[in-house]
Amino acid sequence: MSAQQSIHVGGEWRGALSGATREIIDPADGTPFTEVAEGGAEDADEAVAAARAAFDRGPWPDTSAAGRAAVLLATAALLGRDREELALLESRDTGKTLREGRDDVDCVADTFRYFAGLVGSEDAGRVVDAGSPDIHSVVVHEPVGVCALIAPWNYPLLQASWKIAPALAAGNTFVVKPSELTPLTTVALIRLLAEAGLPAGAANIVTGPGDPVGARLAAHPGVDLVSFTGGLASGTKVAELAAPGVKKVALELGGKNPNVVFADACATDEGLDTAVDQALNAAFIHSGQVCSAGGRLIVEESVRERFVTELAARAARIRLGRGTADGVECGPLVSRQQRERTEAYVASALAEGAVLRIGGKRPEPSAVRPATGYFYEPTVLDRCHRGMRVVREEVFGPVLTVETFTTEDEAVALANDTEYGLAGAVWTSDAGRARRVARRMRHGTVWINDFHPYLPQAEWGGFGKSGTGRELGPAGLAEYREAKHVYQNLAPVPVRWFTG
Ligand code: NAD
Repeated sequence: MSAQQSIHVGGEWRGALSGATREIIDPADGTPFTEVAEGGAEDADEAVAAARAAFDRGPWPDTSAAGRAAVLLATAALLGRDREELALLESRDTGKTLREGRDDVDCVADTFRYFAGLVGSEDAGRVVDAGSPDIHSVVVHEPVGVCALIAPWNYPLLQASWKIAPALAAGNTFVVKPSELTPLTTVALIRLLAEAGLPAGAANIVTGPGDPVGARLAAHPGVDLVSFTGGLASGTKVAELAAPGVKKVALELGGKNPNVVFADACATDEGLDTAVDQALNAAFIHSGQVCSAGGRLIVEESVRERFVTELAARAARIRLGRGTADGVECGPLVSRQQRERTEAYVASALAEGAVLRIGGKRPEPSAVRPATGYFYEPTVLDRCHRGMRVVREEVFGPVLTVETFTTEDEAVALANDTEYGLAGAVWTSDAGRARRVARRMRHGTVWINDFHPYLPQAEWGGFGKSGTGRELGPAGLAEYREAKHVYQNLAPVPVRWFTG
């Protein structure tokens, strides 16, 4: 199978019906390293037809819970077997470091194992008391049908797996569309699913651009559910396209995530060290290209100078380079456009009065940093405020803004002063305050004295414009199911509502 045969429909690998291909660029040097099929609307149509046939004729939707769990567990084992290869592919495709790529593959395997456990432990439904021994009333859960799964480029394999694992666990069939920038590991995952024993037609993939492939899937009458992860503008478009068909829609969109640091968290040297270290991780891991990136530091005024000075010093020492090179801690941005976008945000912040503490430019090239790669230095912007675009909008680059507060109420107000609501953190040594602030924060995930961890068993998703619906956890499985009430009358008699 050649790299251009990246479309999988009804169990067959092939190229685009149009014959078109797309070069995949290594962001560390800006050069193409492979090609994939550039699918179109007609490829999306064929894939939906295959998923539809596999759903309507089976066998996957009728496979027992134990049988579905077995395929998910086998997939997790295969992910473990191919860990290095997948991590390398993810690193080349996205620019992230190999270490991050390995972490991603491990998290993907955990996700498959979690949903295998959830579906494998199920009974046959919930019996409902209908108030009569002559009535047998039960609520069962059935798969929604054909799912269109549209994924972003920052965590290609991970974000796809948060959709694929629960969709399959619930007995659905699907068509996945990875980001056109980073399709390689999702293609590999589809191969692993077949190897794990998934019947042909249950898993289909079309590589290609958002419009027309993603748009066609979102609007397609043969699709029952659309699950989308990506930016606010594309997510809104997807919801519009899906609306006339009244499809189920789940949206995982962006974030503008506050990292709130109280002075008491920094009262000791160890406390300061930990909070600074984690603020660095919150903002700069994967060059800030994380939906839950803690790009908004909201720090108590009394420790601002100490905190920001230490943070900027450490940010300056982050080793930038090709993700596969030894000793590199942070890779490039995913594309030229993403770096230009980041540069524009920094320029606008400086024009609006932000103070540059570190970064704000492209780094010098080096042995691990080709001049043609899309690198950008970790950047700390002090003296920021809500009036600035860089504070309101998602940058999706290595940019940290600093705001300050003096009271707890002010800290909460700042943390909630965003149209998004994906994730945020509070740092404090006062347990009561930690719980109070966490309760008041209008975000789908709140970390206390930590940043970034997520668990497959805990729901993930956003308030406000960060999206609708939830991934992971029991709710992440519920998204892919319909509840059906089956009411059986064991002793039917006439009701005589009409007497004539
Ligand atoms: P994007 O919106 O550009 O693209 C996401 C996907 O949608 C891609 O596959 C793309 O091809 C497709 N797409 C684009 N336009 C479309 C259209 N009109 N119809 C159908 N599909 C379309 O997002 P991106 O740049 O790939 O990813 C970055 C964004 O994703 C950020 O905003 C980030 O916050 C968000 N994200 C959110 C989460 C989360 O869990 N909430 C996780 C990761 C990324």
